[in-house]
Amino acid sequence: MIGFIGMGVMGARMAGHLARRYELLVWNRTPEKAAGIDGGKVAESLQELAESCDEIFICVSKTEDVQEVLAGLKQHLRENALIVDHSTIEPKAAKEMAREFGRFVDAPVTGGEKGAIEGTLTIFCGGRQENFERAKPFMETYGKRVRRVGESGSGQMMKMANQISVVGCVLAMAESLAFAERAGLNMEETIELVGSGAGGSWSLTNYGPKVLARDWSPGFSIDLQQKDLRYALEAANEMGLDLPGTKLVESLFASLQEQGRGGQATPALFEVIAG
Ligand code: NAP
Repeated sequence: MIGFIGMGVMGARMAGHLARRYELLVWNRTPEKAAGIDGGKVAESLQELAESCDEIFICVSKTEDVQEVLAGLKQHLRENALIVDHSTIEPKAAKEMAREFGRFVDAPVTGGEKGAIEGTLTIFCGGRQENFERAKPFMETYGKRVRRVGESGSGQMMKMANQISVVGCVLAMAESLAFAERAGLNMEETIELVGSGAGGSWSLTNYGPKVLARDWSPGFSIDLQQKDLRYALEAANEMGLDLPGTKLVESLFASLQEQGRGGQATPALFEVIAG
């Protein structure tokens, strides 16, 4: 039996793919959300899930949440249990978890809710080769690129590199569209034409229409993005690397959080620029 913990935006979709291929047991802190998963049985407790499953997948929010889940599983795990964590957390915490549990893969994802629905996520994995090989077929039910990028913590480091690139693109999208709007350009045309050349990006193509509709429903929330930027800036600092652009975006998102808009999607950054 396979276990999946965390039925949020991402976890529920990923678990849905597993349920189509494997016998699945799911658990969510708020039980009502777990009940909505097609095909998966719902565990009453973390203990029940740990006692029943050989492979356990986790997708919760931040480092402390993964630690809390692991504490709930620990005493009850099967001898050979493998744990795969899809949450984005601090790389150094992932390393500690691997030291403590042995059979542990850090496996943060990218591709958003759309990628989770379509089963086309990219999954950055860190950990021992044999643990990765064991987890890979399960992850391939929702991942298009499932890659081991190094030892424990490396998956999270790759995810940090990803997030640094993502926020640069979101800022470029927001500034470009604010400029185009102020200049009175046709906005649909701007997205199409700028998006077709060297100025194009995933952000412009996918978030551009959301900006035009002023649709800030997540998706990926500013609060989650800020968590990732904190982890990225901390990891960069530990390596003696300054990331001025990432710091700038972090401060711009912070201004939206101060307005109580942390639950909105990241393209809302446009409104900080456009005014
Ligand atoms: P989400 O919709 O907010 O869901 C978070 C899930 O974690 C919920 O099921 C929540 O349970 C559970 N949870 C949080 N703290 C917990 C705790 N202490 N103990 C047990 N369960 C806990 O988040 P998401 O968007 O699915 O994101 C999940 C992870 O994937 C995050 O690390 C995020 O950074 C990463 N990620 C997200 C996206 C995206 O586009 N959304 C893309 C890539 C990566 P409750 O239902 O009880 O609150």
